[in-house]
Amino acid sequence: MSLPRYDHFINGARVPPASGDYFDTENPYTGEVWAHIARGNAADVDAAVAAAKAAFEGPWGGLTATRRGQLLRRLADLVIEHAPRLAEIEQRDNGKLSSEVVAQVRYMGEYFHYYAGLADKVESKVIPTDKPGVFTFTRYEAKGVVAIITPWNSPLTLTSWKLAPALAAGCVAVVKPSEFTSASMLEFAALFEQAGFPPGVVNVVTGFGAEVGEPLVAHPDVAHIGFTGGELAGKRIYEAAARNLKTVTLELGGKSPNIIFDDADLDQAVKGVVSGIFAASGQSCQAGSRVLVQESIHDELIRRLVEFVGTAKLGDPTRPDTQIGPIATRPQFEKVLDYIRIAREEGARCVLGGKARPDLGAGQFIEPTIFTGVDNRMRIAQEEVFGPVLCIIPFKDEADAIRIGNDILYGLAGAVWTRSLHRALYVTERLKAGTVWVNNYRATSFTTPFGGYKRSGIGRESGSDAIHEYLDTKSVWISTDLDVPNPFIRR
Ligand code: NAD
Repeated sequence: MSLPRYDHFINGARVPPASGDYFDTENPYTGEVWAHIARGNAADVDAAVAAAKAAFEGPWGGLTATRRGQLLRRLADLVIEHAPRLAEIEQRDNGKLSSEVVAQVRYMGEYFHYYAGLADKVESKVIPTDKPGVFTFTRYEAKGVVAIITPWNSPLTLTSWKLAPALAAGCVAVVKPSEFTSASMLEFAALFEQAGFPPGVVNVVTGFGAEVGEPLVAHPDVAHIGFTGGELAGKRIYEAAARNLKTVTLELGGKSPNIIFDDADLDQAVKGVVSGIFAASGQSCQAGSRVLVQESIHDELIRRLVEFVGTAKLGDPTRPDTQIGPIATRPQFEKVLDYIRIAREEGARCVLGGKARPDLGAGQFIEPTIFTGVDNRMRIAQEEVFGPVLCIIPFKDEADAIRIGNDILYGLAGAVWTRSLHRALYVTERLKAGTVWVNNYRATSFTTPFGGYKRSGIGRESGSDAIHEYLDTKSVWISTDLDVPNPFIRR
């Protein structure tokens, strides 16, 4: 049986790659190649950007914000309707649990509904300026063609975080999904057609970072880059954008502290630790990969965690009772094993897991792993693993917890577990992170800004302000004086 073949999506049509080449995409659970994906290059990027620009200058640019909102609303309904099918495709590529991914894709519909509502509520300002004889106001104008570059861990969700506000703002997009998880985006693109978007508003070019991502970022007609992914690619993109003074939104990694005080409800905290690091096999930018625990409850927390996680069911991600699926890609699998080796060499003590599970699926599984005896200066505590590997670090008091929590280059998220309101607020105010959860972990919403301090990124996604990442501000001065005053003197 021949496998499905996915072409680019450019100007509302399926377009074969200029090179004529395709690459394989694999199911990380079975290890089987299940589809062939168009291998894009600079020529495909040029075609997609040209289509986007034509839509921006033509039919899309001519729509009112209200009409854009109506189209986004229709798309949102289609996303919700097609969520099970899109989730199945996404899961085939990245091995996420069915029990999580269907709900996650359905929730994308809510993002599009939210920004659909916002499209015609971006109100400009009349400025009460100090200059006499003028009427001054601002206009918020769409930046134009936006490049959206995404990773493999939550491909459609992370694309929607960018696409929904970009389209609401009136921008057009060229999306480059991860080479590991391209198929779901190509299926998703078909829904834009069905919703009635003009061709060229959303385009998808698949392929590799160097062959598609780089020419897309460098393209003179691309005004803004929205990126989620690793730090290395993020820095390259930032440098390339700087060469042409383009704007960026970068959502990079993290090494977030999950801080547990001795007055916390320990049963809840244990669940918070598990959801922070073992959900999605730890392949999440916001993973709570450093648990900081107050000395007096250190041993008890470890005992409860080992007991709780020790029974976690690894296996087929399509089964409803599976709790931990495979690692999504082969390079990531190798990377996680490498960090487990590094942690052992550094002297950390493995109290749970620590091994691959070659007996499961195609063998791309890693046991949920817990290290104790970790010093915050160790590499296992400082570097993003992006897998099911937890470090536990003891602390004495609030000041110690804040010091260790912030002693890291990243600043994406963090959490505080305590029954004391004062302590919760005191620590929250002092953590250098874009999101802090109190007595919970991992909640995100279209309503609430998300993004990083320090090396975790630039800009914010979600929430009403995120639309401004895709807008330029224009100030307009209208003279209400009939006379032009002395032309040699600045007004
Ligand atoms: P990556 O950062 O290498 O790739 C993300 C996207 O950027 C992909 O679409 C890729 O093709 C593209 N890309 C890569 N180099 C590029 C370049 N120079 N110019 C333009 N586009 C480029 O991420 P990855 O390979 O999927 O994973 C690498 C590491 O990143 C992982 O080990 C993990 O630690 C981290 N990661 C972080 C997140 C996150 O949400 N913050 C998500 C996935 C991976």
